[in-house]
Amino acid sequence: MKLFTFRIGGVHPQEHKLTADIPTKEAALPKAAVFPLGQHIGAPARPVVKRGDKVKVGTLIAEANGFVSAPIYSSVSGTVAKIDTSIDATGYRQPVIIINVEGDEWEEGIDRSSELESMEAHPELTAEEIIERIKIAGITGMGGASFPTFIKLCPPPTAKAECIIVNAVECEPYITADYRLMMEHAAEVLVGLKLLMKAAKVEKGYIGIEENKPKAIQLLTELTVEDSQITIVPLAMKYPQGGEKQLVDAVIGRQVPAPPAIPVNVGAIVQNVGTVFAVYQAVMKHKPLFERYTTVTGEHIKQPGNFLVRMGTPFKDLIAACGGLPDGDNKVLAGGPMMGKSVISLEVPVTKGTNSITVLTDADAHRKPIEPCIRCGKCVEVCPMGLEPYLLATLSAFKHYERLEHEDVVSCISCGSCQFTCPSHRPILDNILQGKGVVMGRIKARNQK
Ligand code: SF4
Ligand code: SF4
Repeated sequence: MKLFTFRIGGVHPQEHKLTADIPTKEAALPKAAVFPLGQHIGAPARPVVKRGDKVKVGTLIAEANGFVSAPIYSSVSGTVAKIDTSIDATGYRQPVIIINVEGDEWEEGIDRSSELESMEAHPELTAEEIIERIKIAGITGMGGASFPTFIKLCPPPTAKAECIIVNAVECEPYITADYRLMMEHAAEVLVGLKLLMKAAKVEKGYIGIEENKPKAIQLLTELTVEDSQITIVPLAMKYPQGGEKQLVDAVIGRQVPAPPAIPVNVGAIVQNVGTVFAVYQAVMKHKPLFERYTTVTGEHIKQPGNFLVRMGTPFKDLIAACGGLPDGDNKVLAGGPMMGKSVISLEVPVTKGTNSITVLTDADAHRKPIEPCIRCGKCVEVCPMGLEPYLLATLSAFKHYERLEHEDVVSCISCGSCQFTCPSHRPILDNILQGKGVVMGRIKARNQK
């Protein structure tokens, strides 16, 4: 089997895919569900419900508030308890809608049957209709970045889409939610890809899967053997193979230039496999985005697993369903160990971008003492963006923001490969992130003048 990969850098963290063979279970309903209004890139949604309102599963509770924004739907039935503020997975307090759960009553228009809806059965669906349904359903990228999906399907006039690339790589250690989704709903994912191809008016679709998921590669290859429009692309195991730019390079051999360029500037629209499934459900089943596949995992978690989770469910409920936290100190991450963020409260809810809850013990997460940089160049060697991480980290630490911008810090994709590989255990990414935040703020302020 020929394996494809990106051309610069990369590392090989241990896989820890503990939950790969565990079928997905439906998570129990929470007592109360918490919906942050800003769970996507862009303007936070605007509430359309008030305290005391009754809602059902699939009721609109907050509308999009601007072009780059997305609506939010209730994942539960019950009564709006309050509109308040709460800490989310980023650690910042932000406005939320809290709904007390009563029963499980769904909006009537949602098709809950498992019958597969094919493209052939729906010739009436136009590109515009598909994009509109994706927009109305509140679909955002489900691999972590949470960018509103419909916008990616409407590229600027200067760019032309030539293909859809489905990101089914899941290269972060531990996480298996996308893998389980592919194994359990491959047919729906393929219809979702066809819908996206029709919406973007392209003739070619690719699904990129890492070689450590041979069963998924085999299943999807068998299902598409007679479809010349779809190609399954086996990828070498190398982190961050699932980075958007790395995936485009690996699959179609084109390099996306530095920001503000995006993949469509080289002809590709990239969508996470969870997003593709959500597109199928929105367009074919009239189901807005209110639940998702999430892995709950960690070497010391008693019963790790994969769950279909209603958004708004607190992390603590899912961790309890897996046997609770291990004894001693733990670090709980929203996401995996390379790019995940540690949460400061287990009340944090699952949102559209929560692909995993990863629990590391103090021993797993313990950082070794920081030593001086020995100029070994390993961080440069592994950086998939061709940057000089040791330099960016130093410039950030000394607040040399102009030079930092000049050195292209905005191209950093926060993959953590530099920090992972550093023999001196230097907090390279921590420093870069701080400096990148300042530089992005300065660029934004300059553009608003
Ligand atoms: S975190 Fe940024 S600087 Fe470090 S390896 Fe990844 S892209 Fe390069
Ligand atoms: S890997 Fe660490 S020690 Fe080596 S050059 Fe980079 S920062 Fe310095």
